[in-house]
Amino acid sequence: MNIILFGPPGAGKGTQAQFIVKKHNYFQLSTGNLLRNEVKLNTSLGSKIEQLISNGNFVSDDIVNTLLKQSITNLKFRDRIIFDGYPRNVEQAINLELILNEFKQTIGHTIFLNVSRDIIEKRIMGRMTCEKCNMTLNEHFNKKQIELHPCGAEYLKRRKDDNLKVVIARYDTYMRATNPVLDFYSKNSNFIEIDGADEIDQINNKINDILKV
Ligand code: ADP
Repeated sequence: MNIILFGPPGAGKGTQAQFIVKKHNYFQLSTGNLLRNEVKLNTSLGSKIEQLISNGNFVSDDIVNTLLKQSITNLKFRDRIIFDGYPRNVEQAINLELILNEFKQTIGHTIFLNVSRDIIEKRIMGRMTCEKCNMTLNEHFNKKQIELHPCGAEYLKRRKDDNLKVVIARYDTYMRATNPVLDFYSKNSNFIEIDGADEIDQINNKINDILKV
């Protein structure tokens, strides 16, 4: 079954997704990473995307949906996808349901990591992402892990869009466009809210319990 990790930017979706991938053999589908990979490939689509992301804007639903469909239809990931950072608006939520229905797949759990804006700012401003393996660490909380990172600490970079101005824009966009998606999922019996302000391990334990059921 597939899983949605939902929450504001910096809530810890990527961090928790990495644990689920390791322990439960899932594929992390972060549309942010899909988009950033397209930018790295230097395609014309990639340069369009780069412009939008570096200003804290969303890319069009068309672009995201095309990239998304490629992953959902990949048999290697069938029913083992963690949607991390998707859907970001109600149209995308509807679209996801349509694509999943079309390919006879379902969402097993929608997990909402709820975190306040002041915590988010601190987390995002310290976020370091590995260019090679996409692992996320934090320069305030993970000093030792950064030093010992298996790919080499030099590959841990700040994302271009992790600056205060863009963080505020992303949070505002989240509140306006993404938060309404909660209404779409919260009435389902497989919806669960977790306090994302807790320690990483505590949250991870809660998610493991959910996935055992
Ligand atoms: P998202 O994918 O929701 O945008 P990330 O997983 O990238 O968020 O986390 C943002 C930053 O906060 C990262 O630097 C990460 O290491 C850190 N972080 C994530 N979860 C927690 C947590 N529960 N407590 C403290 N820091 C966290």
